[in-house]
Amino acid sequence: MMVAGSAPAGEPVHHDLRVTLHPDAGRIEVEDRLDLPADVPRELELSLHAGFEPATPTPGVELERRGTHHRGVPSTRYRVTLPGGRRAFTLRYSGRIVNPPVTGPRGRQSTPGHLSSEGVYLDPGSRWYPRLGARNVTFTLRVSRPPDWRTISQGAALGQAEGDGWREDRPQRGIYLAGGPLHAYERATPAAHAAAYLRAPEPELAERYLEATARHLTFYSRLIGDYPYAKFAAVENFFESGFGLPSFTLLGPRVIRLPFIVETSYPHELVHSWWGNGVWIDYDSGNWGEGLTTYLADHLLAERRAEGAAFRRQLLRKYADYVDEHREVPLARFRARHGEASQAIGYSKGAMLFHMLRRRLGDETFLEGLRRFYEAHRFRRAGFDDLQQTFEAVSGRALGTFFDQWLQRPGAPRLELVRARAQRAGAGYRLRAVVRQRQRRGHYEIRVPVAVWTEDGDAPIEATLEMSDNRHLLERTLAARPLRIAVDPRFDVFRRLDPRELPPAFGALYGARRAVFVLPGAAPASVRAAYRELAEAWASDDDRIVTDATLETLPDDRAVWLLGWDNRFRGQLARSLETAPFALDAESVRIDGARYTPDAHTVAVSARRGRRPLAWVAVASAQAVPAVARKLPHYDGESYVVFRGAPPRRVTRGRWPVTDSPLVIELAPRERAVPALPPRRALGATTSDATRAR
Ligand SMILES: [Zn+2]
Repeated sequence: MMVAGSAPAGEPVHHDLRVTLHPDAGRIEVEDRLDLPADVPRELELSLHAGFEPATPTPGVELERRGTHHRGVPSTRYRVTLPGGRRAFTLRYSGRIVNPPVTGPRGRQSTPGHLSSEGVYLDPGSRWYPRLGARNVTFTLRVSRPPDWRTISQGAALGQAEGDGWREDRPQRGIYLAGGPLHAYERATPAAHAAAYLRAPEPELAERYLEATARHLTFYSRLIGDYPYAKFAAVENFFESGFGLPSFTLLGPRVIRLPFIVETSYPHELVHSWWGNGVWIDYDSGNWGEGLTTYLADHLLAERRAEGAAFRRQLLRKYADYVDEHREVPLARFRARHGEASQAIGYSKGAMLFHMLRRRLGDETFLEGLRRFYEAHRFRRAGFDDLQQTFEAVSGRALGTFFDQWLQRPGAPRLELVRARAQRAGAGYRLRAVVRQRQRRGHYEIRVPVAVWTEDGDAPIEATLEMSDNRHLLERTLAARPLRIAVDPRFDVFRRLDPRELPPAFGALYGARRAVFVLPGAAPASVRAAYRELAEAWASDDDRIVTDATLETLPDDRAVWLLGWDNRFRGQLARSLETAPFALDAESVRIDGARYTPDAHTVAVSARRGRRPLAWVAVASAQAVPAVARKLPHYDGESYVVFRGAPPRRVTRGRWPVTDSPLVIELAPRERAVPALPPRRALGATTSDATRAR
C-alpha cells in the first residue's frame, strides 16, 4: 500500500494526460488537460515535481510560481487563476524525474518516481502530474514510449494503435505509471481482465499468473462483491518491490519468480483491491486494511488447506516473539508496518480481530457484513467505526465492548487451565475445570473454546465459555470417561501464548530483549572470527558477546546463542531437549533419526532453558557464516534447520513436538493418541468445497 491520503474534498478532478517518455535521458513530456468540478475555486493551488516549469496555452489563465518544497521529493507550488466561467485548462511541461531506487529492510527497494532505460515507476507522491492537494482524480492517460516498452496504469486499457492508453472513471487517490521493456500476456475472465507483464518472454511463468489471477478474482468477487477494477495485472518491476497498487501489483524480478508467491503474497496484494484500493483506509482511526487482507487472503488460503489453526498459532507466535510485553501498542495506533513488532500488531492482531468477530457472528452474518461494508464504502474512506456500525447493523448486536477491547486496549489476554478433574457421577462422569485469565491487569470479555476428548466418540466434545471475569468454572456431566481437556486448541482467541504452547523456535531469540552470544574459545581463529561476525550481525545494543572460556555458567536472565561445534556449553542443549528427537555426541548430531556431521553440515537448533530461549548454531566452515547469518532469520518459526555445503543449501527443517502446554490436562491414562480436531469449513466454502481439500 502506497498512498495514505488525507480527507479529499468534493468531487474528483479529471485529468486528460498525454505523456511521452524519453527513458535514456530520464525525461518526460506531458500535456495535461484538467477538468475541474464546480466546487474548485477560480483561484487554486497545485503542486508539481520541481524543475518541470509548466506553461499553459489556455487563453486567460494565469500561472504564478509560489515556492518550492524540498521535503521528500522536491516539488513546486503554483497558483492558477482561471477566467470567470472556465472549468478546464491545459498545462504543458517537461523535465527529468530521476530518483534511483534505494534499498530498505529485507532487500526491498523503493522510489517515489524514476525513469531510466531500465523502466519507469511514477507514484502520485512524486507529483509527476499536477496535484490539487489531496483531491481525488479520474483520468485518461496516453503514453508514447519506445516500441519495445509497455506501460501500465490503473483502470481499463484504451486499445490504441500506438503507445498505451488507460482510463479510470471511478475516483482514485492518485495516478500511477509503471512500465519498461515488457512482454504482455492477457486473458479475459468473468470477473475482470487478467494480465501479466514480464521482462523476458516466459509463457509458463505468465500462465501461472494468469491462471492464479482468474481463480482468485473469481473466488473473491463471489465472496465479497464485484471486483472494483477493469483488470488485474501482475507486472514485473525493474527493482525489487512488492507493491499492491490499484488494479495491478508490481513485483521485483526475484519475488515474481518465487514459486510460492502466486499462493501467498500475490493473492494478498490482489485482495487489497477490495480492502485498501476498493474501500480506502481512514488512517485516523487505525489501519484495518492489513488485518482484514491478511485474514481474507493469507488466513483463508491456509484455512482452505485445513491449516487455519496452524496459521493462527503462527500469528500468535509472532506477537509473543516480537511484541515486548512492556511496549504493547493498541491496534488503533497501527498505521503501517515498520518491522516485526508493528507487523505483529497490525497484521496478526488485526487478522485475529476479524477471526473473533466471525466466530462471534457466524460465517453468514460475517460475510454479509463484509459485503455491505464494501458496497457502502467503495471508493471512499472508511474506518474501524464504519466496520463496527456495519456489523452491528447486520447482526443486530452491540459490538462496542468488542471493538473497544481489541482496538483501544494495548496488550493481550493470557489463558491458563488451572485444574481439571473428572469423577464418576451416577452412570456417567462429572468434569470440573477452572480456566483463568492471567494478564497483569483487568479482564477481557472473550469466548473461549474448550475441547474434551472422551473414551467413546471419534471427535472431541466442543464447547465455548463466555468469560467475563478472570476465573471461570466449567462443569459438565459426560456420558463417557473424559481423557483430555484442552483450552482454545484451535487458537481462536487473540492472546499472548505461553512459551510452552509452542515448539521452541528461533523467533524467540530474535525477538528477545536481551541475548548473549557465546563464542567457542577452542575453535580455530578464523572460525572464531566468523562467529564473531555472525554475532555482531544479529546482536542489538543490549546484547553481549562473550567467549565460553570466560563464563562459569550460562546466564538465566537472557536468551542464549551458543556458537560452534566445540562450544563448551553445548551439553546444555541435550539437557534442554530431553523429550525431543535429538541427540548429540562428539562427532555428530542426530535429529529425527538422521545424522549430521561437523565437516559437512551447518546445524541450527533451538530449545528452552527454563523460561529463556536457547539456540546452538554450528557451521561447517567459516565460509558458510555470511549466508547463514542472512538465511536463518527467515526460519524464525522453526525449531531446527540443517544446511549442507557452501553456499549452504537447506537439507531439513522442523519443529519439536509440544508436550507441556499449560492449556492441556490429561485426565486419564490411555493407550492411543486422541484423535485430531476435525477441520472446520473454510469461510465461504460450500459443502462440496469442504470435502474437496485443495
Ligand atoms: Zn498488505
